[in-house]
Amino acid sequence: MSKTIIISNRLPVQLQIKEGSIEATPSVGGLATGMKSVHSDGESLWIGWSGLTLEEIPDSLDADIDQALARHGCSRVDLSKNEVDGFYYGFSNRTIWPLFHYFMEYSEFELSNWTVYEAVNRKFADAIAAAAADDDVIWVHDYQLMLVPQMVREQRPGLSIGFFLHIPFPSYEIFRTMPWRREVLRGLLGSDLIGFHTYDYERHFLSSVRRLLGLEVSFNEIHLEDRVVKVDSFPMGIDYKKFNEAAARHRDMKPGEISDLQNRLDTHKASTPDAKFFLSIDRLDYTKGIARRIKAFEYFLEKYPEYKEKVRLIILAVPSRSKVPQYQRLKREIDELVGRINGELSTVSWTPIWYFYRSLPFDNLIDLYTSCDIAWLTPIRDGMNLVAKEYIATRTDQTGVLILSEMAGSANEMNEALLINPNNFEQIAESLHQALNMPEEEQKRRNAAMQKRLERYNVEKWANDFMNSLLTQRQQDYSMV
Ligand code: UDP
Repeated sequence: MSKTIIISNRLPVQLQIKEGSIEATPSVGGLATGMKSVHSDGESLWIGWSGLTLEEIPDSLDADIDQALARHGCSRVDLSKNEVDGFYYGFSNRTIWPLFHYFMEYSEFELSNWTVYEAVNRKFADAIAAAAADDDVIWVHDYQLMLVPQMVREQRPGLSIGFFLHIPFPSYEIFRTMPWRREVLRGLLGSDLIGFHTYDYERHFLSSVRRLLGLEVSFNEIHLEDRVVKVDSFPMGIDYKKFNEAAARHRDMKPGEISDLQNRLDTHKASTPDAKFFLSIDRLDYTKGIARRIKAFEYFLEKYPEYKEKVRLIILAVPSRSKVPQYQRLKREIDELVGRINGELSTVSWTPIWYFYRSLPFDNLIDLYTSCDIAWLTPIRDGMNLVAKEYIATRTDQTGVLILSEMAGSANEMNEALLINPNNFEQIAESLHQALNMPEEEQKRRNAAMQKRLERYNVEKWANDFMNSLLTQRQQDYSMV
């Protein structure tokens, strides 16, 4: 029986060395949840980096780590500290990430990082080639591994290979600025199927293939000499049931079960019943537009001073890539903005911004989603934005308003949200005002439509659609031979 091999930069398991022995805990991130239906033990293998560098792994634990990972259906690619620096912090996060999110001025084009990126991609490809049987299906994930499909194809031409990009694919004009643009495209074209979140990213990719490689593209197929590569969009969903049911459980909690955070939120609501909470949740990343959102909040309060003491902005910024200088600068900027605005506007009974710089456990996330009247998410560029979908899934009584940037991939599927341009403060202020005054009936009508869609196109459907499309593509390739 054929198995599926999933490949991502990080394995869906956290390893920790504790008192000389190894502890492995499954992680709960979006990709791990999404792949649950595909990664059913026994029929699949997940290959990736364990999160520990070669220097951190004592020889004595090698076998234990392999066994611990095998119990979770995983196998590791080991990386040295130098490799992590060049491949992950370097090329992935300082070249591809900013460039593909249209932050051209942040993109560094360092040959030494590219060389390490290539070498590490080869390590992953070799691990796949060694583990794959002839009829296995390979699913490679994301921008850290764009060269892997072609590197595997060269060693094992008969394998069925799919690739999914979880971030935007930029327009040709942006993509062409990268010195290694053709190498990246050729790497991706080792796949039988290439998936994107949206039709726009797909279009950008096809246009780069046509213009940079001069290949024949008809509709969504690229014709190579010996194969056809299919390109399609698969908007990633969420585990709708998990969020919806957790929210329902929170609604019915008895006093002893309620978290401290929820009690605090409830106390504030009780003391000012007509006050509203705005919610902003993101990784602390320059693509998310957090600093601009804080400035827009200040602008809103200047324009509508009657809302002072009536609205609070809760910001949850999850620490991310804190070794990269742009992230450190952004952190300082946000700290300063929050400090200044709170310093200037706070009263004895009102702090306009509550700012948390940490990640919160799942149940606290649900507390925030269910307690906040308005989710306000304004990324400057975002491949998808799952937080927007999670917020809507938790609104079990269907109240609540989502204000979402039209630059997020999820805006394509969430037309009933109030869609804004994150650079237009005037429009944002109007949307906040509209959200605060939206009749409950209208909130319910908008959310009901979005909930229906999110429930149907959940993450399991996303994974199955991709796999089915990959299998069909493979059969078509066979029939052409
Ligand atoms: N999230 C989390 N812990 C937190 C805050 C958020 O695990 O403290 C999760 C959130 O539930 C969502 C993910 O992080 O699933 C963020 O995904 P999104 O697509 O919005 O943005 P990304 O960080 O992938 O760019």
